[in-house]
Formats: sequence, C-alpha cells, structure tokens
Amino acid sequence: MSMRVGIGTDVHAYADGVAMWVAGIEFPDEPQGLSGHSDGDVAAHAAVDALLGAAGLGDIGSNFGTDDPRWAGASGVSFLAETAVLLARAGFVPVNVSIQVIGQRPRLAGRRAEAEAVLTAALGAPVSVAGTTTDGLGLTGRGEGLAAIAVAMVDQAG
Ligand code: MG
Repeated sequence: MSMRVGIGTDVHAYADGVAMWVAGIEFPDEPQGLSGHSDGDVAAHAAVDALLGAAGLGDIGSNFGTDDPRWAGASGVSFLAETAVLLARAGFVPVNVSIQVIGQRPRLAGRRAEAEAVLTAALGAPVSVAGTTTDGLGLTGRGEGLAAIAVAMVDQAG
C-alpha cells in the first residue's frame, strides 16, 4: 500500500481591478477578483498544497515563493501543472483531488464541469470541484473573500 493523502486550504480577499479566476476559469461578469501575488485562485492553490502535502514535498510557499519573480501573476493552473512535474520528479503520480470552494461568489454550479476539465487537464488526474456557502457567517459569509479546501491522493510510481 503506497497511497498517501494530503490536505490544503487557501483564502484570498476580494479585490478591485483584477479579474476573477477560480478553479482555473475566469468569471468575467464578476465585479471584483481575488487579491494575491499570483491570480489568487484559491481552488487551484488548495489543490497544489494538498498534492505537495501528500507527497511530502512541502507547500505552495516553499515551492512557488512570492519572492520568486517567475511566479508573479502566475495562474493557479500553471502552479498545478508544475506540481504534476514536481510529483513525477519525486516518484509520485496523482490519483485524484477533491476541492471544495467556500464563499458567496462567484457561483460555480453552472460551470463546474468546465472547471473540472481545466484542472484535470493541468494535473493529468481527475480533479473534482464543489461549492458551498457558510450561511452568511465568517469571512466568506461577510463577502470579504473566498476560501477553498482540497484533499489529494497520490501513489508512489512504479
Ligand atoms: Mg493562494
């Protein structure tokens, strides 16, 4: 038995003047985006942390540091694709990732399949995306930002 699991979480604040990217897709009708050194894609970032954690490869900060100009403005999808490379180099293959996005907006329901297709293609393994709200409570309920939690499973290659 060589399967390993990992967990990841991420939160970014809503911000004016940036595009809204969540789970690898843009929501052009949103009046605000998510702040961050990169595109603020909480879903992709949580997935990356879950995968890196499962493989024992540190976290998104230690692999894609904010002091590294290569990753300034980088998309969450590009982090996910690079994570697949890091996993392969360390002898792991991704089995699947399950992401839950927590917040009031954007509404993911109508575009879930599109998001899953983009993230699955980037990783090379199935990525599922779900959305939920917190009944108006907490930072996401107050509309301050968007959160995501992800669980990943990886297997040792060969
Ligand atoms: Mg992040």
